[in-house]
Amino acid sequence: MHRAQEDHRSNTFPALTRGLLEDLRPVFGSTAGRPFIFASTGTGMWEAALTNVLNPGDRVLAARFGQFSHLFIDTAERLGFVVDVIDLPWGEALDPALVAERLAADPSHDIKAVLVVHNETATGVTNDLAAIREAIDGCGHPAFLLVDGVSSIGSLDFQFDTWGVDVAICGSQKGFMMPAGLGMLCVSPRAMAAVEHGRFPRAYFDLRPQVLHNDQGYFPYTPALAHLYGLREALDMIAADGMPAIAARHARLAEGVRRAVAAWDLRFCARDPERRSNTVTAILVPDEIDARQVIDIAARRWDLALGSGLARLNGKVFRIGHLGDLNPLMLLSAIGGAELALREAGVDVPLGSGVAAAQRWYAEST
Ligand SMILES: *Cc1c(COP(=O)(O)O)cnc(C)c1O
Repeated sequence: MHRAQEDHRSNTFPALTRGLLEDLRPVFGSTAGRPFIFASTGTGMWEAALTNVLNPGDRVLAARFGQFSHLFIDTAERLGFVVDVIDLPWGEALDPALVAERLAADPSHDIKAVLVVHNETATGVTNDLAAIREAIDGCGHPAFLLVDGVSSIGSLDFQFDTWGVDVAICGSQKGFMMPAGLGMLCVSPRAMAAVEHGRFPRAYFDLRPQVLHNDQGYFPYTPALAHLYGLREALDMIAADGMPAIAARHARLAEGVRRAVAAWDLRFCARDPERRSNTVTAILVPDEIDARQVIDIAARRWDLALGSGLARLNGKVFRIGHLGDLNPLMLLSAIGGAELALREAGVDVPLGSGVAAAQRWYAEST
């Protein structure tokens, strides 16, 4: 990323643009969808997704089961959309039957989109998008499926086309292993038709000028060049391994963390073992312990950044992130640091117990 920046209007620039847009496709799991790149973050991509495919005042269905699904809903509400919320305990996955129930009760098709966070980073829960798509189709309902894949795309299996996703969004600082600063999205052909005719006022995030310029290999305004060079490198790294191997690596890394948590005898925020995330684990501390103390000790004494409990989970959980450019030894040090911090905060975990459980798993798995 630290290199001289080229002229983004030059006649050699389209090779970079086209390569990036093309190589994003396998990361989304799409040949039919259309990728876009913005200087933004995941939050901006919520706005881009909503304002490009919906019309002012549209009704949408969304589930809330953690801070990120809450903020997706909050963004939609602040933009004036009417949100039917399925409120779930934080730590639960979205049961597709609940989506089916709400859509079946909407015979006039007032609901224009279903908003789902694929991987709820606050609780460490991964939703079953294929089953949610089946629930929508099972009702014969035409609602768009808008997916936040910020902490899954680039790390977990993601099948944009097969799962019938209409818009998927992500950001550069998670699975793409980059600094924050890019937002990316992929849009289905059906959603692109809505983009063309949409009536919601859009300016910076309008996809229509992007289409015109991207088709020529350019952007409508100055792109975040350093980040584009970083994305080029990230996409080369991702292509070198291939998404199936990357998803398998995340599953293996995550299992080591889960075995450590089990050895500590602590509870997972994610209730259903089947839905525990391979990119982040949220760990509940015993009631009498303040998780903020664990996080503070980890940072001060061991220079380890554990994730905090967000919003209503503040003080109750700490999180270990395990996505991106990571290997088992890096995670063993994080697990070892968490153990030290837990002990000092007053949680009775035998030193080495989580590390040994994870080591055994990494030793026996490949
Ligand atoms: C990090 C994250 C976001 C927010 O992205 P920003 O880059 O912080 O704007 C949105 N959704 C999920 C699931 C996330 O993990």
